[in-house]
Amino acid sequence: MRNRQATRLLFELSKPGRRAARVPACDVPTGELGDLLPDAALADEPPPLPELGEPDIIRHFVNLSTLNMSVDTHFYPLGSCTMKYNPKRNERLASLPGLADVHPYQDPTTMQGLLALLFELQEMLAEIGGLDAVSLHPAAGAHGELTALLIAAAYFRDRAEPRTKVLIPDSAHGTNPASAAMAGFKAITVGSTSEGFVDLDDLNSKLGDDVAVLMITNPSTLGLFEPQIETICRRVHEVGGLVYLDGANMNAILGVTRPGDFGADMMHFNPHKTFSTPHGGGGPGAGPIAVRQQLEPYLPVPVLVRRDGRFVLEEDRPKSIGRVRSFFGNTGVLVRAYCYLRTLGPDGLRRVAENAVLNANYLLARVKHFLPVPHGDRCMHEFVASAQRLKQEKGITAMDIAKRLLDYGFHAPTVYFPLVVKEAVMIEPTETESKETLDAFVEALFRITEQSAESLHAAPHAAPINRPDEVRAARRPTLHWQPSDQSGEH
Ligand SMILES: *Cc1c(COP(=O)(O)O)cnc(C)c1O
Repeated sequence: MRNRQATRLLFELSKPGRRAARVPACDVPTGELGDLLPDAALADEPPPLPELGEPDIIRHFVNLSTLNMSVDTHFYPLGSCTMKYNPKRNERLASLPGLADVHPYQDPTTMQGLLALLFELQEMLAEIGGLDAVSLHPAAGAHGELTALLIAAAYFRDRAEPRTKVLIPDSAHGTNPASAAMAGFKAITVGSTSEGFVDLDDLNSKLGDDVAVLMITNPSTLGLFEPQIETICRRVHEVGGLVYLDGANMNAILGVTRPGDFGADMMHFNPHKTFSTPHGGGGPGAGPIAVRQQLEPYLPVPVLVRRDGRFVLEEDRPKSIGRVRSFFGNTGVLVRAYCYLRTLGPDGLRRVAENAVLNANYLLARVKHFLPVPHGDRCMHEFVASAQRLKQEKGITAMDIAKRLLDYGFHAPTVYFPLVVKEAVMIEPTETESKETLDAFVEALFRITEQSAESLHAAPHAAPINRPDEVRAARRPTLHWQPSDQSGEH
């Protein structure tokens, strides 16, 4: 109902005559565009664009689109990133005009439907996290980390506690120490035991009244649930610190346990990992955070609240850390997450976690016979195998395996992360893959380990490009294409 109302109001606003009455005119010069621009900005002749018919253009772009892999075309066992199936109906719902065509400068009274949806999403995330208050602003998981650490800094500043350190286990994602540094803290590494858990002795030796936050990923990037998590959180609280949970691996524990219940004070979600919503190639994403009551006053503005049955964006929050994002976060991604959560409900979410863990353990049980898994016989939603022995015995590296999998029609797993495993191959199947797909993947992986190092070094053999210099490709990308430029340099 509310959505429909918002759409109707939008429509009313956009009627000719109506708009002029409501929006004050501004001083934009009028006239021919060519007369308004300085001469130096004008070209003498039209740009040399190719003259092409529609079929030629469609073929060009459709063919380009088939050169890449995606969750829609291939199995994508990318550990740590949770590349889930994205239900197509979420895409349709997110493009409803009352949600997608809302203008950021529109008055909140004209977008009550969208705000109601976002408010409900805040409440669902608070419940899933076992925490009290949520901000949907951060644009990605890493941005959520930074936002929460700025909140922690403001909280301790208020209490006149000069805490300068953030403790981070050595299996953490690189964004954790980066966020700590950006928020003005000193990042201190905590070691792991040989089983891959937080080393409690090392933690104890680093805890003190100068520690602001422990950032912990649980389940960890090794796909392990920290058995001592309650003890760890208690120790941090005993010295007056806060516990931050990196929620990137929530897929494994949805509806089974809650970070707030095992001791976390703040956390981020990655809707683009845990609650479906497409991502890849760097975006888009979102990074909502959830915090305990005592941290709520510091949440970024505007804060979405319900007052007298209406949804309002509150700006007047004296203790707020301020704005972290223009407007109200990446709402398109948030709407998809909302649709995903409403579709599955509490029982469905728990089944997601159970099936994700089951699929990962099935792969682990088969893969460990030919690719050792150093940490544990059981895993959560992902596990980390090691190609170290293959490298020593046959010269086959984790990179060779990843590249050769492309020839078999599988996206490469994450490799060389986490850093605590040598020649790491990090595999996460997600919950929606069939046993047939998992078996085909194991088969391909096994065949690759039987091949010669020489042939593997040249893999992939069937991909349009082979082994680009990834650093150069990221730093000096070639963003134009010319018909003569087919040398394969990218
Ligand atoms: C993906 C990930 C992040 C960063 O999240 P983004 O949304 O990519 O910014 C942080 N920690 C872990 C463990 C992750 O897997």
